[in-house]
Amino acid sequence: MSPIAALAVRTAGGPLEAVTYEPRPLRDDDLRIDVKFAGICHSDIHTVREEWGAAHFPIVPGHEIAGIVSEVGAGVTRYKVGDRVGVGCMVDSCGECEFCKDGQEQFCEKGNVGTYNSRGFDGEWTTGGYAQAHTVSERFAVRIPDEIELDVAAPLLCAGITTWEPLKRWNAGPGRRVAVVGLGGLGHMAVKLAVAMGADVTVLSRSQAKKDDALGLGAQHYVATGEEGALESLKSSFDLIINTVSADLEMDAYLATLRPLGALINVGLPTKPYSVSPFSVVGGTRTLGGSNIGGIPATQEMLDFCAEHGVGATIETIAAKDANAAYDRVVAGDVRYRVVIDTATIPTDGADLESASA
Ligand code: NAP
Ligand code: ZN
Repeated sequence: MSPIAALAVRTAGGPLEAVTYEPRPLRDDDLRIDVKFAGICHSDIHTVREEWGAAHFPIVPGHEIAGIVSEVGAGVTRYKVGDRVGVGCMVDSCGECEFCKDGQEQFCEKGNVGTYNSRGFDGEWTTGGYAQAHTVSERFAVRIPDEIELDVAAPLLCAGITTWEPLKRWNAGPGRRVAVVGLGGLGHMAVKLAVAMGADVTVLSRSQAKKDDALGLGAQHYVATGEEGALESLKSSFDLIINTVSADLEMDAYLATLRPLGALINVGLPTKPYSVSPFSVVGGTRTLGGSNIGGIPATQEMLDFCAEHGVGATIETIAAKDANAAYDRVVAGDVRYRVVIDTATIPTDGADLESASA
């Protein structure tokens, strides 16, 4: 196997650069994947900028991976060369604890192994999906149905499953009023999935700028939260709020928009603590909770649901040389609605990234 062309960040807050690395030899249960598209998740940015704490550099980010199986280990049973597959946020777990056995590998008692910036059970640091190939145990790959193009499938591997989980857990569906805070990568997937589940969906975005898009995605209502009195006018409106925002939010004001017994579920991971009055949750017996990605069986279920309902991400496909600029645009909330890197444009010779031709 020749070296893999990839994009890596070498130091905290540094830029993505073109690199090559040696992949591990194929293990019996491994798939080698010819990666076609890799989504840029805000978590990639939080990680390489060390906004969540110390990271291990260099990092090849990327946990929204879509591609084609190019090679299989001797013991692989579920996939064959040519299959369309995806890889999300995890690449290993113990496989033996109660959560792993239940298909909830994200809660593995030994700690799941993240797709990048994570130490595997073999002691090696993991390497993510901004690359032309990825090597992963077949247990952590999922099948991308033929109905979904690989580019619009990639973001489903994180943004899709992360919003699918709380929508399912809190019974989004007909007769349920769901609000989505923040129309970004996760937010727009939450809207599409909740609409496909039959819920009544409201988008809560900072300004009016994304209104037409939100209604185009199928949301029934749209409120610009930056406008005077916007949240006050929504008192006791929602059964479920999915908050995807990566910045401070006034939790008490959002909790007040829940109906009795409603739940505000945070999937966004800002760096500062939330401030919450106990009265905001005790009044109305409301829940303030969180949700962390989702397991492998649920990821497959989500992909099959998306195929059945014609759901894929709304993407901007970029060349590798534009990935650094894309990071800044994600932070500014200026992406509609997920950036996906066309991995064929990653320089194969470790050349200067910004001057590489697309
Ligand atoms: P994103 O594309 O940047 O979307 C976040 C959205 O938040 C923006 O589009 C923007 O929407 C809104 N926003 C509100 N206040 C903002 C501000 N001050 N600055 C910028 N944007 C603001 O991010 P993402 O990839 O969807 O990720 C969202 C969060 O979820 C991140 O913290 C990420 O790390 C986290 N995450 C969590 C999990 C999990 O398992 N829980 C998994 C993946 C990602 P409007 O313009 O509509 O206001
Ligand atoms: Zn992610």
